[in-house]
Amino acid sequence: MPEIPDLEVIREFLNDRIAGREITRAEGPKPWIVRSLAADDFLADVVGRKFGRILRKGKDLLFPLGDDRLLAANLMLTGRLQYTEPDAKRSKRLYFLLGGEDFDLRYLDDRSMGRINYVRADQLDELRRLREQGPDALDPDAAFEDFAERLRPYSGEIKGIVARGKVAAGIGNAYVDEILWEARVSPFRKRKSLSDEELRRLFDAIPKTLNEATAVVRERMPPNIHVKVRDFLKVHRKGGEPCPRCGAPISEIGPNQKITSWCRACQPGGLVKN
Ligand SMILES: [Zn+2]
Repeated sequence: MPEIPDLEVIREFLNDRIAGREITRAEGPKPWIVRSLAADDFLADVVGRKFGRILRKGKDLLFPLGDDRLLAANLMLTGRLQYTEPDAKRSKRLYFLLGGEDFDLRYLDDRSMGRINYVRADQLDELRRLREQGPDALDPDAAFEDFAERLRPYSGEIKGIVARGKVAAGIGNAYVDEILWEARVSPFRKRKSLSDEELRRLFDAIPKTLNEATAVVRERMPPNIHVKVRDFLKVHRKGGEPCPRCGAPISEIGPNQKITSWCRACQPGGLVKN
């Protein structure tokens, strides 16, 4: 699932190329992935509109189209955006494309999991995933006291709390592992067991981890914005490899899409079994 570093780079890349450009063609083959609140026929309605500057809200990219429409795209686990020349070979995973004079923006998905909504600007609040999420994980005005306050209602394991988007939006299963490693907090620690100092380390680790990763992704992902770059991560999916901080082997548990990776030496406690 794309998270803030991926999404920020996709956003920058596309803003340099398509902001201000007109959509001259819109094609299926599976436009039903787009849930439209704004028009019966999404494909017909977008033609002739210009892309505005793309925004990000949590894990959604928001594409202003003309003065009064927005495409909100949450790629979830299997959705991808691809920027290509119009005559580039089409993937079997193609759902729809928005094309300009000399480019295609294509939406690909392996398992129809993306949540894509076409709305009028005044309908954005009708999307529950956007309405209910917390402030952005990179909010420059974030304050530690507010962060601690937003965590307070939750009593479960800290990883699940941070990744669900209500405390800090834009973090998912991969970068939450990186953030917890940076903060030296076990993903399995209960929120109530964390000291103020540990919460402070967690709060500080969020922008540090995300900004450092964004810089790496910016160097390595474009122009293939449909391909995730994750091999540089320090712990996530690095089970068995040495911890970059202490050298102990990194532990890993969980089903494939929800793997948790952490260093038992640097991030002790929290796990009863094993
Ligand atoms: Zn370690």
